[in-house]
Amino acid sequence: MLRERVVEACREGIVVPEGLIAHGRGECFDYLVGEETQFFAEEAERAAAAVLLLARRPVISVNGNTAALAAREVVELAMATNALIEVNLFYRTEERARKIAELLRRNGAREVLGVDDATAVIPGLEHARGRVSPRGIYVADVVLVALEDGDRTEALRRMGKTVIAIDLNPLSHTARAASITIVDNVVRALPRITKYVEEMRTWDEERLEKLLKEYDNEKVLAEALRFISKRLLELAEEGVTISLG
Ligand code: ATP
Ligand code: MG
Repeated sequence: MLRERVVEACREGIVVPEGLIAHGRGECFDYLVGEETQFFAEEAERAAAAVLLLARRPVISVNGNTAALAAREVVELAMATNALIEVNLFYRTEERARKIAELLRRNGAREVLGVDDATAVIPGLEHARGRVSPRGIYVADVVLVALEDGDRTEALRRMGKTVIAIDLNPLSHTARAASITIVDNVVRALPRITKYVEEMRTWDEERLEKLLKEYDNEKVLAEALRFISKRLLELAEEGVTISLG
C-alpha cells in the first residue's frame, strides 16, 4: 500500500524517480528491523518529543516522499508542537513545491513555508540544494527531517541546529550526522512522536532536559545495528522457509 502511494505520487509530480529508489532502500531496511518500531526507535522518538517541546523555533521539513506517505501525520505533529512546516526539496522545482504545499494544506496545514519564500541559502550547499525559508529552516533551532540527504543534514548541523532525522538506514550519512536518529518508517515514527509529545506536555523543562542529557545517539545507532545483526542470526538459526504444506 505504501509503495502504491509513492508510485501514485510520482505520477502526480509530487515524488521524483529518485524518490522511488529511496523508497526501495527504505523497504529493504524495514525488512531488516522487522517492519515494526523497535526499542531503539522508541528511545529516539521520546528524545525527539522532548527536543520539540523545548524548541523555540521548531520546523518540520517535508519532501515529496514524506508528503506522499504521511502528510496528515506531519500536520498533526506540527499542531502538537507549534512547529512550522516547510517544503524542502533536494530536486527542487517550483511546481513540485507548490503541489506538496497543496497536499499539506488539504491535510489541514494552515501555513506552509518554502514555496514562494525559499530565498535564504544554507552555507556550504550549492544554491539550488540549499534554498530555505528565512522564516523557517534558516532560523530554526530544531529541524526534523525525514528521508533526507546526508550533505544537507551535515550542513544543518554545522549551522548549530539540532537535527532530528527519521531514516530507516542506520548507516546513511543522515543517520550518522543527525543529533537524534529515528531508525523507523516515517509512517510509524511521526504519530509516535506526537503521542510522546502529548504524554510529556506536562513535564517541566528540567525533566525534559534530564531525558535529553541521558540520551546517547551513538548508543541508539549501535543498538539498531546490533538488533539487525542479532535478528538475522536468529532467523538463520530458526529457518525462514515458508511451509507450503
Ligand atoms: P545519505 O545521503 O543520508 O547517505 P542516501 O543517499 O542513501 O542517504 P537519500 O535518498 O539521501 O539516501 O535519503 C533517503 C533515506 O531515507 C534512505 O536512507 C532510505 O533508507 C530512507 N527511507 C526511505 N523510505 C523511508 C521511509 N518510509 N521511512 C524512513 N526512512 C526511509
Ligand atoms: Mg543521499
